[in-house]
Amino acid sequence: MLHTIFFDLDNTLYSRQSGIWEAIGDRINIYIRDKLNIDENEISSIRSYCRENHGSTLMGLKSLYEIDDLDYLSFVHDVDLSCILTDDGRLKDLLDSLPHRKLIFTNSDIFHAKRILNYFGVLEYFDHIIDVLTLIPYVKPQPKAYIKALSIAGLPSADGCVFVDDMIENVEQGDKQGFLSILVGEPINNTPSIPDIFELPELLKTYT
Ligand SMILES: [Mg+2]
Repeated sequence: MLHTIFFDLDNTLYSRQSGIWEAIGDRINIYIRDKLNIDENEISSIRSYCRENHGSTLMGLKSLYEIDDLDYLSFVHDVDLSCILTDDGRLKDLLDSLPHRKLIFTNSDIFHAKRILNYFGVLEYFDHIIDVLTLIPYVKPQPKAYIKALSIAGLPSADGCVFVDDMIENVEQGDKQGFLSILVGEPINNTPSIPDIFELPELLKTYT
């Protein structure tokens, strides 16, 4: 029986098309340019290096510079959500329709997660927010991030657990770790997938 769902946050609980990711990306660029005094032309290659070698921009920057995690995270997530996201009540309806225990499992930080969840009025649906600060020094898709998430949830294994994420590498690792792992987005290979989060209840019916 499926009893617990681990939800990614960004581009999973809200649409990839919302523009919020781009807005945060712009803030990351400003941080690198203004706080680290790096030339505008080098920003994109530094960000690629960070993601490819360290899993996230923050972890990569920390390997190169002295960075205060909280200062970085509050700076890059300082975007006006009301200009970007629309709350039509559908996310709340979706979570109401799912009887499972629910957790957030995100490479973002808890302050950003709470802002988004509060914006949609759904914070209380989740009994844990497992964020990048909780997971340090790991991030998805590192296997230990998943093991740590299960441990925080107080679960001995991923049996009966669902994991939903928009990044194929995260979903493939979730599958290796024993979660029923579902991709939000265009189908890739034989990975179970849904075009958007609102299709989750229908897909889960096929597993019960
Ligand atoms: Mg995501």
